[in-house]
Amino acid sequence: MRVCPVCGTETAVLELHGTEIDYCFSCGGIWLDSGELEALIGDERKSLEILQSFKDVSPTNKEKKHPCPVCGKSMKKVSVPASESEIIIDKCPKEHGIWFDKDELFRIVNSANAAGNDKVVEFLKDLFPEENN
Ligand SMILES: [Zn+2]
Ligand SMILES: [Zn+2]
Repeated sequence: MRVCPVCGTETAVLELHGTEIDYCFSCGGIWLDSGELEALIGDERKSLEILQSFKDVSPTNKEKKHPCPVCGKSMKKVSVPASESEIIIDKCPKEHGIWFDKDELFRIVNSANAAGNDKVVEFLKDLFPEENN
């Protein structure tokens, strides 16, 4: 069982399109183990594009750092360009996986949705109804 790096609540394992994700019902965050983002996006070329678009955030970024739910090391802030604005996610320096705050995963998958993976977008919409309806 994993614990949410942001609020400390035990996360629930949900199955999303054949991929297990850790979801925090308390703050809405999602943890993806290494490789799960690629599995969710489904399209190899598209997911590579997203992974290669990750950039280090500027050292002046003031977002609070969170511990990796697997190894407890402080995660790195990574910037992902999205359609409207950039999204800052947390990535384990030892590559255990990526933490997405509430609705960040939806925004990333949604902007990658040229792959047409509607099931994942629909599922994430259900998780975050108030933001996306
Ligand atoms: Zn939480
Ligand atoms: Zn880790």
